[in-house]
Amino acid sequence: MQSTHETFTGVILRDTVYKDADKILTILARGKGIITAKARGAMKTGSPLAVGCQCFCYGEFTTYEYGGKLLVEKADVIDQFEGLRTDLSSFALAGYVAELTEQFGVTDTPEDESLYRLVLNTLYALAYKPEIRRDKIKAAFELRLCSDCGFMPDLDGCMVCGTDEPVEPIFALESAQIFCKACFDGDEATFPLTPRLLEALRIVTTGELKKLLSFRLNAAEGDIFCRLCEEYILLQIDPPESLKYYHSVKL
Ligand SMILES: [Zn+2]
Repeated sequence: MQSTHETFTGVILRDTVYKDADKILTILARGKGIITAKARGAMKTGSPLAVGCQCFCYGEFTTYEYGGKLLVEKADVIDQFEGLRTDLSSFALAGYVAELTEQFGVTDTPEDESLYRLVLNTLYALAYKPEIRRDKIKAAFELRLCSDCGFMPDLDGCMVCGTDEPVEPIFALESAQIFCKACFDGDEATFPLTPRLLEALRIVTTGELKKLLSFRLNAAEGDIFCRLCEEYILLQIDPPESLKYYHSVKL
């Protein structure tokens, strides 16, 4: 039987034990999208696949096809994201990031590079940036993921008068638009914004990925930002189990 070897970098979104010794991996693979591959014997002590086939491991994988299935031959660790494994809130959030990525990611076409980068950057921040509030990392991921996957809010300017710096700006949740407070005439849920908060939303939706977390907000603005982003993503999907888990364990 013919076999085809391929080597690629990727991050493991999920690992499921299969028949005691094997694992089924869900991998966000660069240039390939979300793939499923079996790692034979990965649960055995001393297996060369044991370390590189753990959940949230970022690595270089070599796979081959056998009998219509993808098997992992080699898994070299690039980054284990150690910090995720020592902090329960961060670990829970990583699970949420992975679940959302699976829900929003496309599996039958090569994944957009920006989604791949977004997931890696977010896991990196969760693992190695304890000084950044967990909810801020979560919210920025939620809003950027929506924006990159076809649910970009329109933050250019007030939908009524057109000014790009609305007076007492508000964000209308369901229409995903901004207004001056005085211009708004709808009856949907809204969030009050400040100019700084509006700027943060613009950075997260359309800014460079490496500057995704570069904005600063005070505590009250930060709370609105986090609520807004969570409610916005929950307009698009049912609440994932991993979100409920995160809320049950976060400090
Ligand atoms: Zn206006």
